[in-house]
Amino acid sequence: MSSSTPFCQAAEHKCRPHGRQGLRGVVTSVSMHDPPRLQAAAAPAGVALSAGRLLHLIRSESGVTRAQLLARTGMSRTTLTERLEQLTAARLIRESRSTDPTGGRPAKIIEFDAADKVVLTIDLGHTHARVAAVSIAGVPLAATEIAVKGRSPSELVLAALIKAAEEVLQRCPGWEVVGIGFGVPAPVVQEGQTHWDSSPMRGWSERLISDTLQGRWPVPLVLENDARALAIGEDSLMSSAESGVDILLAVKFGWGIGAGVVMDGHPLRGSTGAAGDIGHTRVTRDGPRCRCGRRGCLAAYASGRAILRQLRHRRVTSLSDVVTLLDRKDPEVTATVRRAGEAIGHVLGGLLACINPSVVVLGGLLGHHPLVVRSVRAEVKSSTLPRMIERTSIQPSRLGEDAGTIGMARLVVRSLYSPEAVDSRLKLLTE
Ligand SMILES: [Zn+2]
Repeated sequence: MSSSTPFCQAAEHKCRPHGRQGLRGVVTSVSMHDPPRLQAAAAPAGVALSAGRLLHLIRSESGVTRAQLLARTGMSRTTLTERLEQLTAARLIRESRSTDPTGGRPAKIIEFDAADKVVLTIDLGHTHARVAAVSIAGVPLAATEIAVKGRSPSELVLAALIKAAEEVLQRCPGWEVVGIGFGVPAPVVQEGQTHWDSSPMRGWSERLISDTLQGRWPVPLVLENDARALAIGEDSLMSSAESGVDILLAVKFGWGIGAGVVMDGHPLRGSTGAAGDIGHTRVTRDGPRCRCGRRGCLAAYASGRAILRQLRHRRVTSLSDVVTLLDRKDPEVTATVRRAGEAIGHVLGGLLACINPSVVVLGGLLGHHPLVVRSVRAEVKSSTLPRMIERTSIQPSRLGEDAGTIGMARLVVRSLYSPEAVDSRLKLLTE
């Protein structure tokens, strides 16, 4: 039914030359700003803001005047001018003249300078990697996919990713790469202590990734778990479109099963970076053996890999084939995927009782299929008390294949333009 995927080759280039207009219509409500908790800390009373904190304030507005900044910060005119000059010299802000509609004197509008800056994102999955260029505003400009195999040497995979990234960036002439986001199917903590050996990416290391990618593009690099990046991407829609959403749980259901939790806009990583790693939740003491070596893990029953194993006699060899057969209402494939959705719903039931999220997003190649959404909803409903889920919406991903891409870009933008990062970059420039 399907040909096998070549080893680390750009087998299926689904090039999407969006151009600068790109997917703008799909993602216009994405918020790339830091969550409110950080913004509230931007202006301590009576203290002149650093240039980084001033930029933070400017980024949270769609455009402000000097008079407005003076009034909001309480800074002296001299200090404000000095800070603005620093930020302008570093191409972080720009001024444009606006016309006063009342006929008064035109005032200069100060705004974040996002022009022609692009984040390179790599969303590495078990069988495919999606490489994209995303504007600072969170709009994917160009993207491609390459086939990868988890057991390929990491150097070969990285070389293929760089080649794909160069092709993507060629479609964005004139745009400057300012950061790289790399999503991986492994537990990630912020300070570079990824548990590679317990993930499908055995043999990888942060050092290898950073040396290779930053050797080609010497810009800041952010590493994150792929399901968590998906959750952050989906949260960027929720936080701007649906007020009151404070906890979002997203599940990535494709070749593997992982989840990400975002609370008040901040990803939950856990003590070892493994928060959301639900694939290895044991649903029974016996049962099929999981790739982690134990028996009875959720992933051993319900992951895309397990589904393909169960459908081997049908010569179904890819998740795209599974989706095609689901859409044709094939009885055996439907029953297999429904059981998987129910198993995921069962595990989510326990999780929902703990964190009581407002929204559960189902993403990944299989996760957003209507059958999976229905199965998960039904199982969650039957395995939890009504009051636990009465305000929880279980819904398919709205960003689809762009969710991880946009989530990674959002993380990179946050990291690049945090007050501390900006202040330290400006300090380096003046030394
Ligand atoms: Zn396992």
